[in-house]
Amino acid sequence: MRRRDFLAATAAAALPLRRFGRVRLPDAASATLLARPFDLDRVRLGPGPFRDAMQVNRRFLVAQDPDRLLHMFRLTAGIPSSAEPLGGWEAPVNELRGHYTGHYLSAVALMSASQGDAELKARGDHLVTELAACQRALGNGYLSAFPEELFDRLRDGKPVWAPFYTLHKIMAGLLDMHTLAGSAPALEVLQGMTRWVARWTQPLGDEAMARVLEREYGGMNEMLYNLSARTGAGQDWLRDLAHRFDHERFFAPLALGRDELKGLHANTNIPKVIGAARRYELTGEPRYRHVAEYFWRQITTQRAYCTGGTSNGEGWNTEPGVLATELSGETQEDCTTYNMLKLTRHVFGWTADAACADYYERALFNGILGSQHPRDGEKLYYVSLASGLWKLFGTPFQDYWCCTGTMSEAFAKLGDSIYFQDDAGVYVNLFIASELDWRERGMRLVQETRFPEDDVTTLTVRAPRPVRFALRVRVPYWATSGGSARLNGRPLDGFAAPGGYFVLDRTWKDGDRLAVTLPMRLHVHAMPDDPTMQAVMYGPLVLVGRLGTDGLTPDVLRAAPTQPRTVPEYKRGPVAAPALVARGSGPESWIERTGALEFRTTGQAQDVTLVPLHSIFDERYAVYWKVSEA
Ligand SMILES: [Zn+2]
Repeated sequence: MRRRDFLAATAAAALPLRRFGRVRLPDAASATLLARPFDLDRVRLGPGPFRDAMQVNRRFLVAQDPDRLLHMFRLTAGIPSSAEPLGGWEAPVNELRGHYTGHYLSAVALMSASQGDAELKARGDHLVTELAACQRALGNGYLSAFPEELFDRLRDGKPVWAPFYTLHKIMAGLLDMHTLAGSAPALEVLQGMTRWVARWTQPLGDEAMARVLEREYGGMNEMLYNLSARTGAGQDWLRDLAHRFDHERFFAPLALGRDELKGLHANTNIPKVIGAARRYELTGEPRYRHVAEYFWRQITTQRAYCTGGTSNGEGWNTEPGVLATELSGETQEDCTTYNMLKLTRHVFGWTADAACADYYERALFNGILGSQHPRDGEKLYYVSLASGLWKLFGTPFQDYWCCTGTMSEAFAKLGDSIYFQDDAGVYVNLFIASELDWRERGMRLVQETRFPEDDVTTLTVRAPRPVRFALRVRVPYWATSGGSARLNGRPLDGFAAPGGYFVLDRTWKDGDRLAVTLPMRLHVHAMPDDPTMQAVMYGPLVLVGRLGTDGLTPDVLRAAPTQPRTVPEYKRGPVAAPALVARGSGPESWIERTGALEFRTTGQAQDVTLVPLHSIFDERYAVYWKVSEA
């Protein structure tokens, strides 16, 4: 769009308020989707580790004081506030302040949809009301916990942290409050902010805007594309505004299938790619699908650890496929895992490729599930993959890292991406106890499982009338010893190979039960550039060696307010873990199972006990081992 047209459109634009309803993708989008996700409010978690984790997160969210979350917004707007300021990245001097309040809006909106949580929805509504008052006091649509002067610095090329990153969190939080929790005021506040963004960017030529995009800006493009889809036709100007946040310098090599990611900050860039994914879905332009899909495959196959996580010291520091040197206390920032999962959801939608769901499961169990402390819901910044370190959690009200916010959202939407649908039927991608409400087809699907402690999942159809659909159950890449299925207790012939789906296309009656058994085995995940450096896995779970609690006094189990890296031991490289000797053809010949999810090496100079990474807390551990052949 030419600048003059853009200005005219912006001036004329009054975003229409639509009644709260379900998000519908425009036609261009539906055509691109082989599998569509279910809305979050259609999936309720059943008993198990995921529902437990959501409840821990709920306690963490309820412990936050709204007046403290609003404090710097109010002062910035000239409204008195006597609340005690928050610490860490929310402190009054921190240039990212306000970002957590945005994440918080998303988190309570997600919880509201995930479990019909009226109390958290009310908290979100209250925050929106108070933020609207701040916006009114400021008078020009702007809303932030810091003054516009930070944006002046951004425009003028002066030092500043990342104003649009923070603004994105607030705007995305408002959009989530609108789409997931039905808040009309949230949309009004967001529209005011959007018009402010349009006015701020309007005078900038393409070169100046390109300079702005060199500074981390979260998923501004994605959020504006989502808003344009939400508010419907006549919103070309909004899509054009979103496009101004598409980072062409970053996208160009990806569109050509070139990995030029070395040296880049990981979580600055993954959200931009989710924006590219949304542009493809809304416009059908294949270039943006190439960008997103190539990026996804490159990260998941060349730049991901055994855990599915990516990044070391927050960056990609090497050429593709070089990871053996990339182990430290700052591996795989949690935000990157969360955003890769968001991207995976899109790529699965376009491809219905079981490999996407395999990746999702691996990253979810190993990168997300163990990233909050079960005691108080404090979040993790980095999942350390360096031997001998431990999970360094935040301190209540004193950190508010990016990952504190991101994980507040992650643990509020654990029902996401378990199921997908198309016209023929349903995909069961994850083995998580839950109930799917597929009311358009007049049925519910109840999944009961104790996975990963148990290797069986049972799917029961609830339908007042018989209903024809294909039930597709993912057969994971790790199910190499074969699986089996029973329908209403009768064994079924044949089973799908790992990496595909077991499909049963039939007319289902109320009470029909499909039980699928997916035996888990021990296997190793080697570094791509050093086959002797291996992690041990059981099914999708990364197993870690328990290395004791020496020196882990309470003060080093919790991180300092500003950065985990201020804890001295976290600056060091990997600490030596005991070397292991592989005897026989696979890890089952030198590792024995000693409990439901507990294992122990045998015949080693120093034997170690292995447990899932997601279940270890307040203890030193090792993920990768130097393994030699006997
Ligand atoms: Zn982070």
